[in-house]
Amino acid sequence: MARHGRLFVISAPSGAGKTTLIRQVTARFPGVSYSVSHTTRPPRPGEIDGKDYFFISRDRFEQMIQAGEWLEWACVHGNWYGTSRAFVQKQLEAGKNLLLDIDVQGARQIMASGLDTVSVFIMPPSLEVLRQRLENRGTDSERTIALRLENARQEIIWKHLYHHVLVNDDLDTTAAQLCTIFAQEMTPEKERPDSGNA
Ligand code: ADP
Ligand code: 5GP
Repeated sequence: MARHGRLFVISAPSGAGKTTLIRQVTARFPGVSYSVSHTTRPPRPGEIDGKDYFFISRDRFEQMIQAGEWLEWACVHGNWYGTSRAFVQKQLEAGKNLLLDIDVQGARQIMASGLDTVSVFIMPPSLEVLRQRLENRGTDSERTIALRLENARQEIIWKHLYHHVLVNDDLDTTAAQLCTIFAQEMTPEKERPDSGNA
């Protein structure tokens, strides 16, 4: 039978550096596809529909809840986000590796679903550094930054549920650590050096 793809789940408090790290990993591993989420959030300048997100209305989002079309969904920072069940199933069954960039609530739903995943939580070095990164990024208002910092405190509580926790202090170091995890997890178990079958 054809091998199923690997499902990678990455979460982090907003501003910890997840997007930056994911860009580096997906550039290095073309065999891993980024799962484009749906959101009711308005696009930020430069964001492209179908590439960064599928931007949909709240009505459409709710219809998809009723129809059971979400593999997971959550309200994050006041907007709704969801991952299409059909898309993920199709990709994994076709043997493709997928990366989900989702929040802790969504990650917990995926973990509870029984799907075989590799989960990674990205930590900021401290909440103070997180605040500085959000301010330097310059994409969020003072009020939004305060909300994101408050949410960060809640999200960090769940980091123990993840297979790997990385502290994103030095970017190159964290990117290398993440790449190592991907390289190991994409190698079939029987071919890994420590499996005894290599
Ligand atoms: P997230 O996707 O988690 O919200 P981003 O990838 O947008 O975070 O990163 C937030 C900001 O912090 C960006 O301006 C990014 O360039 C910067 N950044 C990311 N990682 C680091 C790092 N290790 N050291 C310093 N700045 C970083
Ligand atoms: P942003 O609006 O800054 O792109 O994302 C805000 C948060 O929503 C991030 O933590 C991101 O991981 C999360 N997110 C993005 N897509 C999804 C999704 O499909 N499901 C869930 N649960 N969270 C998502």
